[in-house]
Amino acid sequence: MMHCLRFPARTLLLAVLSGLAQAQPAAEIKVMERQTLNAGDLRAHYEPPAASTHELKLTLVYFSWGSWQRDEILKATGAMAGLLGQCGVRLAQVELVRVDAPQQYHYFHTPVSRQLARVLQPGTPTVYFVTDTRQQPAFDAEAVGRGNSRTRPELADSVWVTRVTPEFGIALAHELVHVLMDSGGHVEEPGNLMREDTTPGNTRLSAAQCARLRDVGARNGLLRTISE
Ligand SMILES: [Zn+2]
Repeated sequence: MMHCLRFPARTLLLAVLSGLAQAQPAAEIKVMERQTLNAGDLRAHYEPPAASTHELKLTLVYFSWGSWQRDEILKATGAMAGLLGQCGVRLAQVELVRVDAPQQYHYFHTPVSRQLARVLQPGTPTVYFVTDTRQQPAFDAEAVGRGNSRTRPELADSVWVTRVTPEFGIALAHELVHVLMDSGGHVEEPGNLMREDTTPGNTRLSAAQCARLRDVGARNGLLRTISE
């Protein structure tokens, strides 16, 4: 008898609590600024490739009073885009989204990061510039493609870059290639961007890697084919 009484009460309480947990982020997370920049606006940090077949539009999310400054973000993004130029991919536009949110959202951690993404509904691919990660294992930077987002669909096609990441631009390019290819695979080839270690010398992509990222990226709506 007691169980009969307690179960519904407990279920109701849980429902109320989970309702609160879902209602709370919308109130806590506020978009303070959305700024759209085209390739010309990025000229200080980015040289588009001479020839390109595909274009990329990126959403960049950062925090007011966070650990990333706007200029550092644009510099890393420009360096990243420069590396994608070797595949004939041109950065056409970025949308910078500045968010006010409590500290917990400044860290990559699937439960809270899902809430953040659910509130923001950003365009994809999305790069989140966070302080650090609370994921285990803890990676300096992490990519969430289609294949590893089935249990967390809000995070599909996103990259999470922490402040402790070495070589921001190269790391960002490496993670974005994971997203565009929808593959977590690494290679051994010397000097390749998709080696496991991020170093200044690891920047090249093979013709096959370029073809795959263009094909899969375009198929998943993350790149647009330029018809000229
Ligand atoms: Zn990797």
